[in-house]
Amino acid sequence: MFDTLTDSFKGAIDKIRFYDDNKALAKALKELKKSLLKADVHHKVVKELLVNVEKEVKGDVGKEKFLKALQNELTRILTAKGNQGFVFASKPPTIVLMIGLQGSGKTTTTGKLAYFLKEQKKKKVLIVAGDLQRLAAVEQLRQICEQIDVTLVADESKTPNQIVKEGIKKAQKELYDVVLIDTAGRLAIDDELMEELASIKKVANPDELFYVADAMTGMDAVRTAQTFKDKIGITGVVLSKFDGDSKGGVAMGIAHQVGVPLRFIGAGEKMPDLEQFIPDRVVSRLMGAGDLDSLAEKTANIIDEKKAKQLSKKIKKGKFNFNDFLEQMETMKKLGSMKSIMGMIPGMGGMAKQIGDMDLENSQELKQIKALISSMTPKERENPELLNNTRKRRLASGAGMSQMHVNRVLKQFKNAGKMAKQFSGKGGMKQMQDMMKQAQGRGIPR
Ligand code: GDP
Repeated sequence: MFDTLTDSFKGAIDKIRFYDDNKALAKALKELKKSLLKADVHHKVVKELLVNVEKEVKGDVGKEKFLKALQNELTRILTAKGNQGFVFASKPPTIVLMIGLQGSGKTTTTGKLAYFLKEQKKKKVLIVAGDLQRLAAVEQLRQICEQIDVTLVADESKTPNQIVKEGIKKAQKELYDVVLIDTAGRLAIDDELMEELASIKKVANPDELFYVADAMTGMDAVRTAQTFKDKIGITGVVLSKFDGDSKGGVAMGIAHQVGVPLRFIGAGEKMPDLEQFIPDRVVSRLMGAGDLDSLAEKTANIIDEKKAKQLSKKIKKGKFNFNDFLEQMETMKKLGSMKSIMGMIPGMGGMAKQIGDMDLENSQELKQIKALISSMTPKERENPELLNNTRKRRLASGAGMSQMHVNRVLKQFKNAGKMAKQFSGKGGMKQMQDMMKQAQGRGIPR
């Protein structure tokens, strides 16, 4: 997510590793400056950060001290006064106005936020289509709501203010926890839009106003956030498209220059691809130290502990079969992109980059494997040894694979099962680490 920054911090930190003197500090600071500027961080922010880091380490240039100073400074810069993550109103429903320019990802983000609240916080969420000008926008919202199974209030024959009033009334009557109001977007900021938003704000009396900013637009995102803050008043920013070429500097700019806290980050087109922005956690990830808290939160509500235990028993006994595999695939899909998960595991940030956008849902190979497994009988899935050549041929043609490919998949699965069994035994974790070290030693590019 912050690849460029994480990489360049590593570079700066490595400069310190070998020397413990002031020259090393100067070198590391220079490296840091270069990398921050390259990551699109505003030059004033860079200057401030460098001065503070230098002040903090003065006299003691050890690596630990440098890391700690950098960590403190980054956390300070990324922290703006205000709420963190999602904050519920003391009296439900919590009303959130979603605002942003057209194409910024506002509609998608509204869906993602609803999905996050529903899946991770177990809340009852209502979405209101306040953007009634563009029919396509209402239709898009309708599709998203269907996909995530969230109720939508929309009526193209009404005015935005009417529909917002209606939505809130419904939420109060039917005890919804959260109301997300999608508002009209424009290609650029204009007076008419600002008036419409001000009017909706009056009617909705929201607890929060989230401005959705497209991270790909770099410093423009910082500027427009400032304008919306001045004209309408915003309580948080959600940065969308952070999976793109965005360099991370925009996150610092919004927190530090605009002074509005970043609340969420969208890093992918799918509904699970939204993460809470909690500064010290993000800094931990930035420094390549992972973020186990977020990972635990994300998995806790999706992975059923009892099932996980059953599964681990099966693996230990070497009984993991294709039925379990299919189930695991479904769970993985709910976790979002592989890349974002890897970035949360300490030491795996580098690997996340390698994996890139490995897409579980759309991978051709996995689609074929799924088709193959789906056409097996439950018995065959439990025990693939039952498959004879005739069956294999039939399965192969059904899944659009060659028989050789089918044989390869079956063999791989058998081997994977064996390996998993080995690793799940005593000292398995150590064995795995050794293997990874070996692999790294062999020079797998990072
Ligand atoms: P709106 O006009 O502001 O409502 O924008 P949309 O929600 O329609 O999003 C515009 C485009 O950006 C769509 O193609 C979305 O799929 C895409 N998009 C939104 N958020 C993200 C994100 O976090 N990452 C990526 N890669 N694409 C996104």
